[in-house]
Amino acid sequence: MTDLTQLGVKDIRDGVRDGTFTAREVAESLNAAVADAAALNAFIVTTPDHALAAADAVDAARASGETLGAMAGVPIGMKDLFATNGVQTTAASHILEGFTPRYESTVSQKLWDAGAGMLGKLNLDQFAMGSSNETSYFGNVASPWRKDGSNQPMSPGGSSGGSSSAVAARIAPAATGTDTGGSIRQPAAFTGICGIKPTYGRCSRWGVVAFASSLDQAGPMARSVEDCAIMLGAMAGFDPKDSTSLQMDVPDWEGALSADLRGKRVGIPREYRMEGTDQAILDSWEQGKAWLKDAGAEIVDVSLPHTKYALPAYYIIAPAEASSNLARYDGVRYGLRDLPEPGSGAGASGSGLQDMYAATRAAGFGDEVKRRILIGTYVLSAGFYDAYYTQAQKVRALVARDFERAFEQCDVILAPTTPTASFPLGSMNADPLTMYLNDVFAVPASLAGLPAMSVPATINADGLPLGLQLVGRPFDEQGVLNAGLAIQQRAGFAAKPEKWW
Ligand code: GLN
Repeated sequence: MTDLTQLGVKDIRDGVRDGTFTAREVAESLNAAVADAAALNAFIVTTPDHALAAADAVDAARASGETLGAMAGVPIGMKDLFATNGVQTTAASHILEGFTPRYESTVSQKLWDAGAGMLGKLNLDQFAMGSSNETSYFGNVASPWRKDGSNQPMSPGGSSGGSSSAVAARIAPAATGTDTGGSIRQPAAFTGICGIKPTYGRCSRWGVVAFASSLDQAGPMARSVEDCAIMLGAMAGFDPKDSTSLQMDVPDWEGALSADLRGKRVGIPREYRMEGTDQAILDSWEQGKAWLKDAGAEIVDVSLPHTKYALPAYYIIAPAEASSNLARYDGVRYGLRDLPEPGSGAGASGSGLQDMYAATRAAGFGDEVKRRILIGTYVLSAGFYDAYYTQAQKVRALVARDFERAFEQCDVILAPTTPTASFPLGSMNADPLTMYLNDVFAVPASLAGLPAMSVPATINADGLPLGLQLVGRPFDEQGVLNAGLAIQQRAGFAAKPEKWW
């Protein structure tokens, strides 16, 4: 019998619908694969019963002749940033440890309504702040990939590193991710899978733990472009509970997939040729151009002149919003509450509200989160607001205008997803700025709110995956997916990590 853990979203959905196997069989196989993969540390909690209950509901619906949803019978991993009713939701932080929401995020609810089940809550960088999955309170996530001939643990990328690791390891056919400045695309690139961040506002942010609200977007991570199209269709849609939700119909992305790019122009942004980018990445970018040309597209040079200012602007705007969003964790409303040590100065044990806030936040947030709060409050402070925050907002507008102009000359932009392949866990921690630089190609599309996707392109000399990024016009997820499909068909990326876990 087929090994059901190897199947993607489409194959599981079609197989369940056609009666080739039952949804329960799929859920049982994947629950077992998850239980066997504890060494990856991809999940914070597993929810095998949720996966089985959803599967049984799908099998029963099929038996009674009901029409099945787009994700019917597909068990997925849920990034632990989405509030799930009755299931601990932590954002990989200590401050939210033990927090069990009594409500469901819109995106996860839509997935359950479409017939998906939940294998568990996936590990991530704490509050989605990070690029390596090393800032989680629940420990690092390991990539299933290793360099050839080495057993050094590698980063699955971040912040959706539990998602990328699980999908690449075939312990989940797909997972949700969130992308504020690359957190879907960079981990997808590091692990040889696909991931799409839709246009800002496509997926509701309601019930998603907020990092930087003007940037946060949910999206799917899966092993093929088709699977991403299916899952994004189930996740997207207007939500009156999110004031920034787009009031637009959700197109049939799966139905309109086409790798025929005749009449399309693909822009190559010259400013993305940056120092410090691996030669193998530049080579794969060249290869990507050739593939898209082969699919019928015309390749044109475009300019995004403010690219080099995007990263510094992001690392002002995102912390500014984070510092304000994270003010809600006060020890009263959610999760952890800590009281000052007896005799620890100003407020003796439990003496005042301020002391309780301070003690809770000191104990509850990790170092990276504290760094962001400090930067954020600094750039928003009365004396520095104009010098930093206002300037960064101006840069953001310029970055968006660069894209608008480029899209007068092209339909979709092709660029690398990251400047390097995955790196060993622990190797980038000494200097946060080096880590931040990993987001250099991902951040501009986030600032401009554009749909952007990473698709696997090739394997480098060390045996590690490399991804290519496609960025589209606002609302043109279809253009991004179609170009992604053209690359997927030509790249023929079939490499899988060898099982060591
Ligand atoms: N790595 C980036 C950061 O740490 C992006 C994170 C994200 O997209 N959630 O801010």
